[in-house]
Amino acid sequence: MSSPASQLRAYVDYLRDLGIYDLYHRDDPSVLLPDSLRAALAANAASATPIKAATLTAAAAVAPAARQATPQPPRPAPPVSPPSYFPADTAASMPQELLAPMPKPKSFDELVPLPTAPVADKAAALAAVRAEIGDCTRCPLAYAGRRHIVFADGDPNARLMFVGEGPGADEDETGTPFVGKAGQLLNNMIGAMGLKREEVYIANIVKCRPPANRTPEFVEATTCSQFLIRQIDIVRPQVIVALGATAATYLLGVKQSLASLRGTWHSSRGAKVAVTYHPAFLLRDPRQKGEAWKDLQRVMAELGLTPPARPTAAS
Ligand code: URA
Repeated sequence: MSSPASQLRAYVDYLRDLGIYDLYHRDDPSVLLPDSLRAALAANAASATPIKAATLTAAAAVAPAARQATPQPPRPAPPVSPPSYFPADTAASMPQELLAPMPKPKSFDELVPLPTAPVADKAAALAAVRAEIGDCTRCPLAYAGRRHIVFADGDPNARLMFVGEGPGADEDETGTPFVGKAGQLLNNMIGAMGLKREEVYIANIVKCRPPANRTPEFVEATTCSQFLIRQIDIVRPQVIVALGATAATYLLGVKQSLASLRGTWHSSRGAKVAVTYHPAFLLRDPRQKGEAWKDLQRVMAELGLTPPARPTAAS
């Protein structure tokens, strides 16, 4: 059986795929946890060394006189949550997880003016962006154990672009986006649309692996966005598919549930944007594959694509 820590990690990943980013822990039985996980955490807590108490006892034994003699500075005031960026009436009716104190991201369209002319040599222009990134140290992910910067994969002239969240372990190892299990599912999704992986362009919101595959932090995503914006402006895809909530959040500058963003067209850098489930989420909840297929069918209709014929028994 997996450890309580890895069960908790998987559960947090699952919640993040649902668009719930901001979680906190209380010993409160009303907090929703799977029963098995609650029991495992309780067992773990019972067997753990009470580190905090032990440390305090040791500290008190080492320097009781000094502690009494030294006047203690006044305690800082507790942190005050920044004001919500939603209007008060909206905030009152919104689920708690959407009221996180994350700054409101700006959409890619708000960040940089749209380019006026297309680039003639797209491959060369993309190579220049990659060269400019260099051995990047612009955000904390540079110091979080990354092995490779994962720039992109695919056709610089693609009409269809997929944007994911950030590299995982396999991508970090190889330097290529979507090559692990989620990548295999993405390849199948692309194939079902009647395309080959080499015919689309694939990139991520962040180009370096977040430690333990956590969701990229605001500062990481917004620091890296400048390069993704330039990649989109060079490729000029007709349609972008945002894979999961993180891609949608930063492309569109909204922090909304995936459910509210699916099923309608959005726009970014002159491309039509469809939002669908991240393949990693579909691996955890395959029942949602039908919903993702509906999203991809709308994209296919927009691009005039027909799915490949299924092989018949005779062929
Ligand atoms: N998940 C992503 O969002 N991107 C990848 O490249 C791989 C997994």
